[in-house]
Amino acid sequence: MSLIVQKYGGTSVGDIDRIKNVAQRVKETYEAGNQLIVVVSARSGVTNELVARARELDPNPNEREMDMLMSVGEQETIALTAMALHAIGVPAVSRTGMQAGIMTDPAHTRARITEISGGDLKEQLDAGKVVILAGFQGHSNDGQITTLGRGGSDLSAIAIAAAVEADLCQIYTDVDGVYTADPRVVADAIKLDSISYEEMLELASAGSKVMQNRAVEFAQKYNIIFEVRSSFNNNPGTIVKEEAASMEDVVVSGVAIDKNQAKIVVSDLPDRPGTAAKLFQALGAAGISVDMIVQNIGREGKANLTFTVAREDISRAQKAVTESFPDEAAGKLFEASDIAKVSVVGVGMRSHSGVAARLFQALAEDGVNIQLVSTSEIKISVGIEPDDAEKAARVIHIAFKLNK
Ligand code: ADP
Ligand code: ASP
Ligand code: MG
Repeated sequence: MSLIVQKYGGTSVGDIDRIKNVAQRVKETYEAGNQLIVVVSARSGVTNELVARARELDPNPNEREMDMLMSVGEQETIALTAMALHAIGVPAVSRTGMQAGIMTDPAHTRARITEISGGDLKEQLDAGKVVILAGFQGHSNDGQITTLGRGGSDLSAIAIAAAVEADLCQIYTDVDGVYTADPRVVADAIKLDSISYEEMLELASAGSKVMQNRAVEFAQKYNIIFEVRSSFNNNPGTIVKEEAASMEDVVVSGVAIDKNQAKIVVSDLPDRPGTAAKLFQALGAAGISVDMIVQNIGREGKANLTFTVAREDISRAQKAVTESFPDEAAGKLFEASDIAKVSVVGVGMRSHSGVAARLFQALAEDGVNIQLVSTSEIKISVGIEPDDAEKAARVIHIAFKLNK
């Protein structure tokens, strides 16, 4: 008998027939003699719809109330999934994040898990029940509902697998696994048999939403090996695990696109030591993460700084910048525009040279203009016009022979 954690994402529980399909799959695993914790997301589209409703009332809604609202979607699907199992003769019981003792810090809408007590989870499993756990939600130590950041049901699954020391952790989604690029954008993308935590983390952080980046970070920290696979067929998925020696032979493992970025230009800043520190401290204090950064050469005592942030952070960034440079704010200090980020990721970059040149050449040949560049040891990202993003992903995919 094994203890298995399965997570089903939004599309997999998107309607009644799909919930029945999930129940059938769970039944098979249960009847094979395993204990099961099933983590479910909200039906696809539900969380977005709730967020949109909140914004109709208030463009900057209170974050505690946002968590109260957003956690509703998962509460619907845990109950329906439990009922679907009852209907086919499988004993099952639903649990909210709070009931399962998923404790977080109080950072509403982006809370971090601090501890998992499990509540009565073990007792329920030992009594022969399948436990259906609400993804995406936890509670702070003053009893408030918190959520774990968008896509956070992945994190719920990995974290509960770590807490109960599960034998197997499976992330069921609407594609067969992790591909060399989003298969909905690059038609000839190839499914990877395995990928290292580090590469998966870079891809997730660069916009591949197949896994939440914080979930991958957690898995790496606690060495939770997991599999990403489809809930619609029985094809083997992608194993995400510690790097193996052979992985370095592949220069680039995947391409990621993030179309939700904004480029911010802050102009006419005083060109002296401490300016950048002051600016980025202000952004950091506002909880905004900055990605690519370019500083222009100063002229006549003035300099411009260009950087990228998530598009939803533009207004908070503007507030932070204008408040920290009040004297300059009267001028044309702050300009934001949409930008897309396209990244190539691969642990092989550590030992192979010429990756940037190949990337830039491929984009040049296709007439894609590069506005910003940033690199890490195993990643190169370029900031480009959003309309060029999908085309860029396709040409890069070919340039690095990822379809072979
Ligand atoms: P779930 O609701 O199951 O959590 P998501 O919609 O969050 O599913 O993530 C799955 C989607 O991620 C896929 O439908 C696919 O379009 C997208 N995706 C982006 N990059 C990749 C990639 N490299 N490999 C597989 N899927 C990807
Ligand atoms: N329902 C949440 C979201 O849409 C969590 C998840 O699906 O993983 O972000
Ligand atoms: Mg997801």
